[in-house]
Amino acid sequence: MNNIVFISGSESATKSLWLAEIQKQLINETILLPEQIGEAQAKQVDIAIVANPDPKDLARFPNLVWIQSLWAGVEQLIAEVVDKPVKLVKLDDPQLAKTMAESVLAWTLYLQRNMPGYAQQQVNKQWRQLPCITSAELRVSILGAGALGIAALETLKKLDYQVSCWSRTPKQLNGIQSYLGTAGLHTMLKKTDILINLLPLTPETYHLLGKELLSTLPKGAKLINFSRGAVIDTKALLNLLETGHINHAVLDVFEHEPLAPTDAIWSNPNITVLPHISAPTNMCSAAKVIAKNITSYRENNVIPIYVDVKQGY
Ligand code: NAP
Repeated sequence: MNNIVFISGSESATKSLWLAEIQKQLINETILLPEQIGEAQAKQVDIAIVANPDPKDLARFPNLVWIQSLWAGVEQLIAEVVDKPVKLVKLDDPQLAKTMAESVLAWTLYLQRNMPGYAQQQVNKQWRQLPCITSAELRVSILGAGALGIAALETLKKLDYQVSCWSRTPKQLNGIQSYLGTAGLHTMLKKTDILINLLPLTPETYHLLGKELLSTLPKGAKLINFSRGAVIDTKALLNLLETGHINHAVLDVFEHEPLAPTDAIWSNPNITVLPHISAPTNMCSAAKVIAKNITSYRENNVIPIYVDVKQGY
């Protein structure tokens, strides 16, 4: 049987934990690190499981049929495989979607219930009751209605928020308004109190949220970015926060991570900074998803649903 290679840019303790967890789920497979595989044997490897792999390691395996990513965001990997026949499979784990949905709910509530304002009032020893808006009154829109977006939309809907989404293809989700195209995006943004970004980073979404689109939001709207920093033009966002057009932004992702200690974003009172934690991959559930994908491929020769590298996601 062919071997599987596990290529990870993580530090060695994390790498070992991942390898042990995946191997535990795939007892009939041999999963090796690149350094354990010689040149001749490298030609027999048909599947790579990867997490931030060094491109040089990946290039040593010329006959890969598919690559399984440990992450849901694969924009860097796409650049490695774009001209090759190998297929790229992103992590599609219901637990990851649930974790993201929890984060979306948590930070929507944080904004809805004025937590940044109350934190500031405490610093100033100020006793002031701010308006309390009900979920049914609040218009929450999500950019992206994929694996993570749909779970978040459905979670918000259950709590009565007025929920909308924007995606490339139409969605039929109970009680959720679906928008498409540039006109649809403008229409949705005009009716949005909290905008949540869950779009993958692609050539089309790079700096999509710039001055023009962000200005389309009603004055006082709030923003949450949980996908990739570069989907937002940070300079435009900072200007709109400064003028008060956007009231507050919760940013979990940045164009350059980690955010530099000297970056003024840290001390901007209208920004909540999170260190890329909205949906960490869960080792146990991810290993099970990956094992299922590989077992199914071995049994049926069917590659799991893979990324459309031309679309960029
Ligand atoms: P996905 O299943 O591929 O869904 C992507 C969604 O975006 C789809 O609904 C797609 O539309 C839409 N889309 C893509 N390009 C578009 C465009 N140009 N115009 C309109 N809609 C567009 O991705 P996912 O698994 O939900 O993950 C989303 C992103 O979350 C990942 O790419 C990653 O960057 C990020 N992420 C962040 C964390 C974190 O901890 N911060 C963790 C995991 C993932 P269609 O449905 O019509 O195809």
